[in-house]
Amino acid sequence: MNSNYSQQRQLGALSRRLRPTSRVVIVGGGASGALMALQLARKSLDIEVILVERTDRPGRGLAYGTTCAEHVVNVVPGRLSAFADDPNHFVRWLHRSGMLPAPESFAFVSRHLVGDYLAEMLGAAGPNLTIVQDEVTTLNDTGAGVEVSLKSSPPLFGDTVILATGHGWIRQYPEPASVPPDVPVTILGTGLSMIDRWLSLRTSGHRGPITAVSRLASCPTATPPASVSTSMHQLFPSADQ
Ligand SMILES: Cc1cc2nc3c(=O)[nH]c(=O)nc-3n(C[C@H](O)[C@H](O)[C@H](O)COP(=O)(O)OP(=O)(O)OC[C@H]3O[C@@H](n4cnc5c(N)ncnc54)[C@H](O)[C@@H]3O)c2cc1C
Repeated sequence: MNSNYSQQRQLGALSRRLRPTSRVVIVGGGASGALMALQLARKSLDIEVILVERTDRPGRGLAYGTTCAEHVVNVVPGRLSAFADDPNHFVRWLHRSGMLPAPESFAFVSRHLVGDYLAEMLGAAGPNLTIVQDEVTTLNDTGAGVEVSLKSSPPLFGDTVILATGHGWIRQYPEPASVPPDVPVTILGTGLSMIDRWLSLRTSGHRGPITAVSRLASCPTATPPASVSTSMHQLFPSADQ
């Protein structure tokens, strides 16, 4: 992932602090929590990792939990491996899953595929990773560790707790189906979320005019298709046919 380098550095510092039989509780199973869990779980079998995610869809979080296939990742698959030492891991997963995009299409894959990939990696992570579906309500430093209280089950105890709860705010967008198809829609902002909303409206058959308002009158720029497919189709030349 994009953040792999800084994540590896944080992981290095963390694993130096962890005792051989540490239990790490990660709060939040979006991309950050999932990636941290995967790295720690394969670092050493002596580290017990518990990933607590309040939804029933670990590995997805805000960005990769979308079900709209038109919502794409803004980086190419060759930069989305969960493992920094195996940069083509996600590309091979796409190939195995039959999801490698055609060379003539933009090689920016649907974001839900990244969620599927991370969820599958979590499922295959091994015996020292446990995923708990619950919401963390409070953390209490006991001196000997951290007590992690859960909404629906008894507390967990961790030597170390990692907070990966995301931005802490989730903007609720109206579901496209709830927007009458002929009404004019104004979107404030012209970043990637605007593109998402526009794609969702278009996919749902919206016919009314859509106006996006920006202070700078700018839009995200597009990447030329040739450069983005290169890594995948060099790796899997047969996909070009
Ligand atoms: C619409 C959108 C599109 C994006 N697209 C891209 C992209 O294409 N490429 C890119 O690199 N980045 C993208 N991003 C940025 C993206 O936010 C990050 O890349 C990354 O996915 C953030 O993951 P996260 O795990 O930190 O947070 P989140 O995805 O917000 O995950 C936090 C998780 O914590 C859980 N949680 C929160 N509180 C608790 C609690 N108390 N107990 C238990 N669980 C809890 C939540 O349920 C959630 O699953 C996008 C962001 C958004 C909003």
